[in-house]
Amino acid sequence: MSAEFEPSSEITGGAWYVEGSLDTEFINVLKEQCWRKIYGVKVATLEGIADAIKRSNVCQIELTKQQVEEIVKALVLDNEVMEVKSTGTGEFASIPVGKVCYKCIGKRGYGGEPKLGALPSIPCGVCPQISRCTPDGIISPNTCAYYQKWLDF
Ligand code: SF4
Repeated sequence: MSAEFEPSSEITGGAWYVEGSLDTEFINVLKEQCWRKIYGVKVATLEGIADAIKRSNVCQIELTKQQVEEIVKALVLDNEVMEVKSTGTGEFASIPVGKVCYKCIGKRGYGGEPKLGALPSIPCGVCPQISRCTPDGIISPNTCAYYQKWLDF
């Protein structure tokens, strides 16, 4: 089904929305693909993840680097992935010093519910959609799963 996905326009909320509804199935497919890529290489740069997604043919559209970043940031919010900076040594040997990259947290694959404690701080602080999030908008705290989970935390 994800292969038939076509992004909606900015008016309908951007690539992650279809007819005004968040396309959670497509997003979860991409989240799993990103998680597997990161897990497979231990440490991945955003460019590496984006390239792997492109080569996987998981969707017909070509995702922008920003869109892949949004997926990876969602994994960070889910506490499945952590953001780190390359030290240029060891597992970071092929990555320039100081470059932001991503590592999986634990060995459990993506696919379950976010873990308890996944949102120790308000998710809006690292949310790539914050500039488009309004109380009455398509992207809204009223419909945001991350925000609602944070409220329940
Ligand atoms: S409430 Fe809005 S800004 Fe906060 S995490 Fe959700 S979408 Fe992002």
